[in-house]
Amino acid sequence: MELNEIWEQRIKESGVDFLYFVDISMFPADITEGCSTAILFGKALSKEYIKALRANQEPKEKELSITERKMSTLAQELAEQLEAEGYKSIAKLKFGRLPHKAVALRAGLGFIGKNNLLVTAEYGCAVILGKVITTAPFVTRSEPPQEPQCGDCNICVDVCPTNALSGKTWTITTTPDEMINRKLCIACQKCMVWCPYTG
Ligand code: SF4
Ligand code: SF4
Repeated sequence: MELNEIWEQRIKESGVDFLYFVDISMFPADITEGCSTAILFGKALSKEYIKALRANQEPKEKELSITERKMSTLAQELAEQLEAEGYKSIAKLKFGRLPHKAVALRAGLGFIGKNNLLVTAEYGCAVILGKVITTAPFVTRSEPPQEPQCGDCNICVDVCPTNALSGKTWTITTTPDEMINRKLCIACQKCMVWCPYTG
């Protein structure tokens, strides 16, 4: 079996909804630390969770933070397994260095919306991503970043209770600080759940 297939099978058994082997060789070497591949994976948040947030109800469980922990644990486990097979692999990069979203763009998974979130065709913004970077010789993909598809929509900007979002349309040179004032963001998730792409 090919290397990709072997690991795809292993990772899917962990309950992820999708995974991609992505070329990251275009990012600076001091960030990728010699790794040319990212295994990017993720899980969609449930419709029940989104529905509850839209109705201003407390969801039954803290699905977002639980899923974030699961993706982070999976990344750590994968890094250890790949290391055990002789491939340098890293699950935790310094904060802000090679964000999941940057890799997701190269995977062709979606675009960056005015809410500064990844917006996917299948799940909207309601996805939690994880990744491990590695020197393992996977066959990878590399897509040009998708243009934002927000158009005239401004829902996330209007629904934000703290005016944290600038409303800027993302381009390849846009920094996160130009999109969102993180000091104002209270992580209410309204910009995620009300995005029309989230369904
Ligand atoms: S999470 Fe809430 S506060 Fe933060 S940008 Fe989105 S809507 Fe605004
Ligand atoms: S709510 Fe509208 S403007 Fe905001 S990210 Fe979604 S499509 Fe773009």
